[in-house]
Amino acid sequence: MKKKIILLGATGSIGQSTLEVVRRLRPELELVALAAGSNWQGLLEAAREFRPLALGLCDPKAAEALLKEFQRGPWEPAPRVYTGMAGLAKLVQETPADIVLGAISGAAGLPATLAAVESGKHLALANKEALVMAGSILTRRAKELDRQILPVDSEHSAIFQSLQAGDHAEVRRIHLTASGGPFRNYSREQMAHVTPAQALRHPTWKMGAKITIDSATLMNKALEIIEAHWLFQLPPQKIKVVIHPQSVIHSLVEFVDGSTICQLGPPDMKIPIQYALTYPQRREMPPSHFSLADIGQLTFEPPDEARFPSLRLAYRVLEDGGTASSVFNAANEAAVDLFLKEKLAFLRIFDIVEEVLGAHRVIGSPSLEDLFDADRWAREEVRRRAG
Ligand code: NAD
Ligand code: MG
Repeated sequence: MKKKIILLGATGSIGQSTLEVVRRLRPELELVALAAGSNWQGLLEAAREFRPLALGLCDPKAAEALLKEFQRGPWEPAPRVYTGMAGLAKLVQETPADIVLGAISGAAGLPATLAAVESGKHLALANKEALVMAGSILTRRAKELDRQILPVDSEHSAIFQSLQAGDHAEVRRIHLTASGGPFRNYSREQMAHVTPAQALRHPTWKMGAKITIDSATLMNKALEIIEAHWLFQLPPQKIKVVIHPQSVIHSLVEFVDGSTICQLGPPDMKIPIQYALTYPQRREMPPSHFSLADIGQLTFEPPDEARFPSLRLAYRVLEDGGTASSVFNAANEAAVDLFLKEKLAFLRIFDIVEEVLGAHRVIGSPSLEDLFDADRWAREEVRRRAG
């Protein structure tokens, strides 16, 4: 097995973990293209090591800085450089590869993600926002073109692995686990005064800023409910969430005969990343210190929907369908952005997302353009309401 990989979001948390996986499994895994947002220095460093054919940067100024670097140094041949959101989609179309690992953060990753499927590549997807925004289109096109969408998100990788124990029709429901985030035991009153610095300290996972805030609001789990709906083609009522603070069981599948199968392991994203890249095979991973006897106890509790309205919003979005998920995702992204800039209080994230959802007139069976329009509208609406 030899696989050529395009890595989108190479400088981020998932991107760097992917580089580690590829570093160990070379030459079986080969990086043929790398892309990022604006961090050209980080991209250059990765390019020096992995020598890809093509590089992409969303930010044109950063791309210019990168090109200058190639003019100075001995790069034979220098990689092709693509820029802008459309440029990244073009990079994906033009670079021959087997699989695209989508690890851009947010809806910004959608054009390149869609380009992966459209150009006949398999997709290993971390960028859940792309699937939340355009799950109907992405999954339909993947099916039509016979391409796989393999989950990188740890919960969905766990579900994907557990599903192999039975038939799709034999699934009673799935249970996504959630750590509960840093404010699991906070009262509403305490949550009202939470700062970005506090919210950025996640108890079990080390991740990019946006997803870390989403984990603190449980919006991450809300997005994951929608992600699971599309990946596994399950109706909302078959998708449940359970709080499991130790993040050891990554999710569970309950079958109709009462058997529940789960996947567990250390909270290390390299495991689901590697599985998505080597699927259907498994490869050796250096053993980590993981001992159930040391962990001692695994605990579970129901999510508290009064303090965390996020999950309820996800079910509502699935019921509304059409452009609702695009609005939900974009409103949340815009709200998180304002919270990180200290322009929005923590609890306002919930209210403002719900208000914007309520103000939206859903378009059923949306085109890609409808989804982008809804995304833009929702972001503006959040900024307007935040004042
Ligand atoms: P991050 O913020 O650490 O990295 C984001 C990456 O995307 C960076 O390489 C950045 O340069 C790039 N990027 C940002 N805007 C871009 C744009 N407009 N165009 C091109 N590239 C752009 O984020 P992360 O934690 O690595 O998360 C990436 C994705 O993976 C998110 O969708 C997140 O929900 C998902 N995910 C992450 C984890 C995790 O453990 N970090 C786990 C599950 C899922
Ligand atoms: Mg997850």
